[in-house]
Amino acid sequence: MSTSSHTELPALARAGHAAHCKRCLSGLPGSQVEVDGARLALSFYCIGSLDLLGVFFEKTSQFDREEWREWIWEQHISGKYGTGFRPSPFMTTAGIAEGYEYTDYDTPHIIMTYTALLCLAILRDDFSRLDRTGLTTFIRACQREDGSFSTVPGSGEFDLRTLYCAFAISSMLDDWSGINVPRAVEFISTCRTYEGGYGQSPFCEAQGGTSYIAIASLHLAPSSFLPNGPLTPAERELTVNWLLQNQAPSGGFKGRTNKEADACYCFWCGAGLHILGAKEFVDKQALAGFLASCQFKYGGISKAPGEHPDPYHTYLSLAALAMYSPYTEGAEGNEATWQFESLDPLLNAKESTARWAREHIPARSIATTGHGVGVE
Ligand SMILES: [Zn+2]
Repeated sequence: MSTSSHTELPALARAGHAAHCKRCLSGLPGSQVEVDGARLALSFYCIGSLDLLGVFFEKTSQFDREEWREWIWEQHISGKYGTGFRPSPFMTTAGIAEGYEYTDYDTPHIIMTYTALLCLAILRDDFSRLDRTGLTTFIRACQREDGSFSTVPGSGEFDLRTLYCAFAISSMLDDWSGINVPRAVEFISTCRTYEGGYGQSPFCEAQGGTSYIAIASLHLAPSSFLPNGPLTPAERELTVNWLLQNQAPSGGFKGRTNKEADACYCFWCGAGLHILGAKEFVDKQALAGFLASCQFKYGGISKAPGEHPDPYHTYLSLAALAMYSPYTEGAEGNEATWQFESLDPLLNAKESTARWAREHIPARSIATTGHGVGVE
């Protein structure tokens, strides 16, 4: 199947990639300044990369981990639309006082809420501070008439990403009462295109990232809501074929028909294929070869060879490799640098981190640990 399986891969520069993510965590380098409004998302890619590399606890101090944990909980805010996490405290100058209620300019954000829950799971937080009821109220406040979700309650900004976040949060909570699932599933189907991929919203061109998000959402939803399964066999086949034809001759995946390969689509398309049970059709050796060429000499992985690295492409490249390691287990030397603990493709987290989230976020986890609601 592979045309390049005999090409020797260089080592994956694990230490360099870990150092790149640590640098981005402690002070945002110049090229990343524009993402300051979404510091929580950036932290996730840095912390998540260290987690995938298996060095998170080794490369960070307990002091730093405590500080990050407290900083994330400071973004957990309540108000008239329920409870969730906001992107960063850039809208308010003061810290959060006891009984603080957010205003319409400082509401929780659904993408940041998903991100915060995963960051806290990587930090192995016990989630005793999580307002679970408030969280389902918040998700409900974000769902729109057409089944889609807005980023913050009442905003006009919506696309499939926000729907995925609502599904992932409900799945981690093991509580779907905040979502009208049939209506949301109907919205997903309106984003499907003739190619078999999914667009950002109805009538948009199919794109790798949103296709992953649609596929993952349909597989996260409880099967009781999907009497015919997530996709019909014919739909599945069309989607698998579309995703597969996005693997370019360079080995990387492109996000759309007729575009250049980009490291992040190795994750988006690769994870979609993994969820659909079509992993074996991906040329793993070629995929790793492409990602090897995206490694920056001072650490970090960029979207394409010769570009500057960033935590987003570093994280998604490592996550792709966690699904598509080019070597079998027990490899040595250079080959061993390409091996990872397996990934949960539905939540987009290392399997042990996803398991921690699923064990500690649901309300039932409170009864067994004795924390939280009812024991003030
Ligand atoms: Zn990209």
